[in-house]
Parts: sequence; structure tokens; C-alpha cells
Amino acid sequence: MALTNTIYNSPVFQQACDQFDQAADILGMDQGLRERTKQPRRCLIVRLPVRMDDGRIETFEAYRVQHNISTGPAKGGIRFHHDVTLGEVAALAMWMSWKCSLVGLPFGGAKGGVVVNARDMSTGELERLSRRYIQEIATFIGPNLDIPAPDVGTNEQVMAWMMDTYSNHVGHYDPGVITGKPVALGGSLGRREATGEGVAWFTKAYLTDLGIKPADTTVIIQGFGNVGSEAALALDAWGAKIIGISDFTGAIHNSKGINVRDALAYAAANKSLDGYKGGDALTNEQLLEQPCTVLAPCALERVITEQNAPKLKCRLIAEGANGPTTYEADRIIEQRGDIELIPDVLCNSGGVIVSYFEWLQNQSAYYWSKEEVFEKLHKMLAKAKASVDETKKKFNCSRRTSALVLGIARVAEAKAKRGLFP
Ligand code: NAD
Repeated sequence: MALTNTIYNSPVFQQACDQFDQAADILGMDQGLRERTKQPRRCLIVRLPVRMDDGRIETFEAYRVQHNISTGPAKGGIRFHHDVTLGEVAALAMWMSWKCSLVGLPFGGAKGGVVVNARDMSTGELERLSRRYIQEIATFIGPNLDIPAPDVGTNEQVMAWMMDTYSNHVGHYDPGVITGKPVALGGSLGRREATGEGVAWFTKAYLTDLGIKPADTTVIIQGFGNVGSEAALALDAWGAKIIGISDFTGAIHNSKGINVRDALAYAAANKSLDGYKGGDALTNEQLLEQPCTVLAPCALERVITEQNAPKLKCRLIAEGANGPTTYEADRIIEQRGDIELIPDVLCNSGGVIVSYFEWLQNQSAYYWSKEEVFEKLHKMLAKAKASVDETKKKFNCSRRTSALVLGIARVAEAKAKRGLFP
């Protein structure tokens, strides 16, 4: 595929562009509309001076990329990670555009990132960093402009500080600016579970299509944070056996099954799975290659690669993470033909769907029960699955490409119909 020469240049941005081009070819999109739809609309790069506990001032680089604002306010999480780059944030923003469009949400796509190792910060330092980030991008976000949410390294508490900072900026309580907040501050019931719940819902639905029963299902999950742990709990409750989990410190494998609640309690108490005795210790790389029914990458991008794709021993890949499979690995998996793949934009869409519900509840100040939230969520997931499966048949393409065709076509059509100004 042609290299894309922009400030976003990076392997992960190229991966998102290659995926886009493949879908745009199927859609027969002309060059003008193709570039207009593909490239991020705008971005903001800021530096955040933060007073550390020892009195020093440290500055952190941070980004907010708005990929699409043609179909509604932009929507996307904020990542705190030491390796985050502008190109990575741009790729994640692009995937948000296709995901929101695919599941029919009235949002564009965005993403934010702060280059920081938040694990090493005190609570006070983290609060000052979170507030400063929102202060710096306050004019770039808003309930009708761009609505952030949690991602890797951020959580409900961080969202609460961010919402409070924005509300102080505009002079009144404005919860609709951020989703993934604590329930006490206008968060939605079910939002914390939503992404993992959605990953588990799709996994169960596709296993059922394959005729595989819960008792015959073993699951390996890379990443035991918000998405991975909630997916593990939901699949465990369904009757599947969780045989592998991991985090940034390494992996645990136990063919007899891991006690998910016990592992969660350990990770909460110790801030990682390091030293957990519920199974054998492996590296993250080794874990991905263990035999299992379901492999669910729920951590970071580009972990399933040309090198390990030929060695995978699973029946189904459920992409809880965004971008875990490289473009080259996708080709290998397609050629193998023995692994089904639920692509990120479909598989982890439960998170942004319940974020949409949270935003709706904030706009109307009328709050729903968890049962209502999950019932509405499952309906939207079922609709998205049916349309992806139908498009896959129609174009005889991979499930990823069919999901992207659907997501991209709607954004491109909206742009074409809006025309250009002036
Ligand atoms: P999180 O910070 O809660 O958890 C991330 C987990 O990954 C942690 O357990 C961390 O230790 C682990 N991890 C980090 N580096 C790793 C490595 N090199 N190898 C193995 N594990 C590693 O983040 P999250 O919110 O669960 O997000 C995980 C993925 O899901 C990301 O790709 C994110 O973009 C995607 N996602 C999240 C949401 C959401 O609602 N939070 C929604 C959609 C998609």
C-alpha cells in the first residue's frame, strides 16, 4: 500500500490507512472523497506543566486528534501511556470514526493521549496532570463538539476530575462533556462493564454460530484492565474456562482454569498481576501462542504480527483492544482460513455505545436502570453484527473489511452530501 506522508506517520497510522484503502477500493471511492474521508480533520498538541510532589515542575506532551466532525460531535477516549504518539492517537481517532458510524451513533471520531507513565505518579500528581490537560484543550472539546472518555491508563476518577475542570471553565455543571464518569457524577450504570460486556456478547454470538458450547470454550485474554477483566468476568459467568490472563508485567496460564475474581482482587491489591500464584508464569508473547478457543487481545495495538500469526492456536480472535492485529497478520489469518476474527470496530463497540447512552442521559437529566442500558446495548450489538455478516457475504471479504466498508461508507456519504464550504 502507498505510504501516507503526514505528521501522523507511524506504523499504526499506516495500518489504519491500509485498512481504510482496502475498504475504499471495494466502495470504488474517488480520490478526492477518499483523502477527505481518510485523513484526520484537525489536531491539537499541547504541553502540560505539572507541579510534582517534590516541588519540581515537569512538562508532558499531549494530543487531541479529531478525525471526523462531519456526522456529529467527535467522540473518543484519552490514553495516558509513556509510548503514546501523535500517529497512534490519529489511528485510534480514525477507528473511532468508523466504529461510531458502523453502530449508528450520531458522533464523529476523536482520541486523546498524554505521554506519561501514570503508574509512577501519586494521586495528587495524576489529578493535576488530568486537570491541566483539560484546561489546555477546553476550547477544543464540549458536549456538542468533542466528548472524551477513558482509555488505557485513565479511569472513572480521572474522568471526574476532567469533567469538574471543564465545568469550572464554562461556569456550570456540564456532565455531557465526558463519558465514563462515576455514577455519582452523571455516569451511566453499566458503562464500566460495557466494553468487556460487548466483547463477551460478540464472542458468545460467534461461538454459537460456530456450534461451540460454553463448556467446550477456553479463553485467553491479553490485558487485564477495564476491558479484559470485564470480558473475563462475563465469559466466566457464561461457563467458559479462562485459562490465560496477562498485564504489562507478564502472563499467567492455567489449563485447569483461573479464578477470575481472585485474580482481580490480587491485581487491585498489588497494582498488577506480578507474583500472582494462580497458574504458571509466561511472557505476553508466549501467552498469545497457547492453544485456546478464544484469544482476546485487550491491551495495546500490533501484538498479532507476521511473526506470531502463523503460530496462533485459537478458533476465534475477539479484538477487545483497538488495532491489535497488523495489516500483514490479517492477510496471514485470512489465508489460514481456520480462525474467525471479530474486528475491533465491532468487537469493542459496546464501550462507545454505552458512552452514547451516558451522554443522552446527561442531556436529558433522566437516568436509566442497568437492565435498560444492557437491553438497549444488546439490541444495537445484534443489529451491527447482522449488518456486518450480511456485508461480508455481499462482498466476499473479511469481517474486518466488511465492518470498515459499512463504517466508512456512511461517513463518506455524509461528507459528500454536506458538500464543501464555501
Ligand atoms: P486499561 O488501562 O484499563 O487496561 C490495559 C491493560 O493492558 C492493563 O492490564 C495493562 O497492564 C495491560 N497492558 C499494558 N501494556 C501491556 C503489554 N505490553 N502487554 C500486555 N498487557 C499490557 O485499558 P482499557 O480501557 O482496558 O483498554 C484496553 C484496550 O481496549 C485498548 O486498546 C483500548 O483502546 C481498548 N478500548 C477500551 C475501551 C474502554 O471503554 N475502556 C473501549 C474500547 C476499546
